[in-house]
Amino acid sequence: MKKRLLILGGTTEAKELAERAAKIPNLEVISSLAGRTQNAVNPIGLVRVGGFGGEAGLVTYLQENSIDLLIDATHPFAAQISWNAAIAADQVAIPRLMLSRPAWEPEPNWIEVESNELAAEILPDLAQRIFLTIGRQELAAFAHLKQLWFLMRMIDPPTGVIPPGEVLLARGPFTVEQERSWIQTYQIQAIVSKNSGGEATVAKLSAAQELDLPIVMVNRPAMPMGTKVADVDQALLWIARSHG
Ligand code: NAP
Repeated sequence: MKKRLLILGGTTEAKELAERAAKIPNLEVISSLAGRTQNAVNPIGLVRVGGFGGEAGLVTYLQENSIDLLIDATHPFAAQISWNAAIAADQVAIPRLMLSRPAWEPEPNWIEVESNELAAEILPDLAQRIFLTIGRQELAAFAHLKQLWFLMRMIDPPTGVIPPGEVLLARGPFTVEQERSWIQTYQIQAIVSKNSGGEATVAKLSAAQELDLPIVMVNRPAMPMGTKVADVDQALLWIARSHG
């Protein structure tokens, strides 16, 4: 019997999963995107865009669209949607899987913090010129640091308040050579990063180590309990088992 899989996406893993799951017989795949990134690279197959309206909205969506399986392949820092997915899947009683790439392992040049706000607190004693690689949504946490200078990298231009400095619009993956060149050109003294994991943005960590720069690493937020896999191959195995 045909089953329907909803993939909560917004990551390269979600896109690859949609492409590969679409080849499974008797499985209809729908990808869901928040709709934040302009000119997003859409997954193949059916795609819906925009929030559901909280956990209640997601429950309604799962019911109205007769979703049988849910894979939460959102970014490790997208905690709200992951908690909503956990509650909604429980309520509708469908299997849910989290696909989350492994976090990067700590290095001696890291200073680990639990939030952007805590990263902002320690920056004035650490450096003057900072490479901020946290995307565009959370820049406000650094906006009060008027005495510092930031190189802010993101895919789309910022919309809210931003700290002093320069915006660098760029979409990964980046090479170590590119990262080294940005760090040197802008005379960067420290980097702020989220522990996103994955290959696309890991080069900055190698460049920082080479150049002996500190990295303020924001640790991942708490995520709901549940079955979790680290890559697309394992997610496909889970689908095979759940699909029957
Ligand atoms: P979030 O804080 O967890 O979610 C905020 C709200 O956005 C959710 O409550 C939901 O709205 C909506 N939403 C999020 N992901 C959605 C999806 N895949 N489909 C439909 N609605 C979604 O999420 P975020 O951190 O803003 O991230 C938004 C999207 O960008 C995610 O899909 C994530 O995978 C991607 N992304 C995030 C980051 C990051 O650093 N946070 C980095 C790269 C990509 P409703 O409550 O109305 O349903």
